[in-house]
Amino acid sequence: MPLAAFLTAPGTIELRQRDPLTPKAHEVVIAVEHAGVCGTDLALFSGNYTVPLPLVCGHEFAGTVTLTGEGVNKTWRGKRVTAEINNTCIACNHPSPCAACRKGMPHHCQRRTVTGIISHHGAFAEEVIVPVGTLHEVPEMVDPLVATLTEPLAAALQTFVMTPYEKGETVVVLGPGRLGILIVFVAALKGLNVIAVSRSETKRQRALQFGASEAWKPEEAEIRIQEATEGLGADIVVEATGTPDGIYQALKLVRPRGTVSLKTTCGQTGGGVDWTRLVVNEVCIQGSRCGPFEPALNILAEHQDRLRPLITSVLPLNETQTALETATHEDKVVLRMQ
Ligand SMILES: [Zn+2]
Ligand SMILES: [Zn+2]
Repeated sequence: MPLAAFLTAPGTIELRQRDPLTPKAHEVVIAVEHAGVCGTDLALFSGNYTVPLPLVCGHEFAGTVTLTGEGVNKTWRGKRVTAEINNTCIACNHPSPCAACRKGMPHHCQRRTVTGIISHHGAFAEEVIVPVGTLHEVPEMVDPLVATLTEPLAAALQTFVMTPYEKGETVVVLGPGRLGILIVFVAALKGLNVIAVSRSETKRQRALQFGASEAWKPEEAEIRIQEATEGLGADIVVEATGTPDGIYQALKLVRPRGTVSLKTTCGQTGGGVDWTRLVVNEVCIQGSRCGPFEPALNILAEHQDRLRPLITSVLPLNETQTALETATHEDKVVLRMQ
């Protein structure tokens, strides 16, 4: 019987056998090969992000389609795929889509479940079931291990879908960690001048390798960014620190009429924002979440050798508990199923 790692209580993973999954109409079963651990998984594991338990976490994965439900083209069987995480009316082929889906915002689907996060078991398991509308074929040349970066890379790209930019503008990335480093990489590819800010010397060095022109400690950042921008501040500040406090520093670093782009989903609320500064400087605050998979897969196909070193350890499924306990101190931990 196939194994799945259930989060049964904050801090507790139980490896359980369960019946083989059978797809309903418009669904497929995927034999998972690899699944990455991300900040959201850590927030679920710590209990900062509360959802009904037990839950099989894991939403950054790649594997092979083994079974197809009714209404699914059988040619999907045997294909190497990854999947978007939002199970929307569109992805599920719902006969009467909700208002958000009808407005062309399926990521905000009012009926959605989210694989490995909200009301849908995820990929820290030998098998996962998803709607066929979420699937993307992984190009043959992409290493299946690296393919687990598709979802976070898409989320990094979404930063610049939601926030308009011009080539050569200065973007500051606060917290070049698991997701932040992908934002540094994507921003540099787009021709932006990237400045990374991190307490960690290792992360600052890595940000420079991944396309940042400068990297500073938080206490140095304000003066250095002033110098780099003729005293004006950064055009865009991306907050990816993973804590609700990152926004305070972001507001100090952004220029008037600039944008603070928020990526942290730590499940905690923050208070004490200087709203006056925000109003006086006419600052735009922009959240962004899930992004486009096809451009992410294209970037992986072209740059996988540069991105592969971001995966710092690979552990078997039966070490999911360890993976979630240690991932906080690592870049990217990936679980390998078979
Ligand atoms: Zn994620
Ligand atoms: Zn919908």
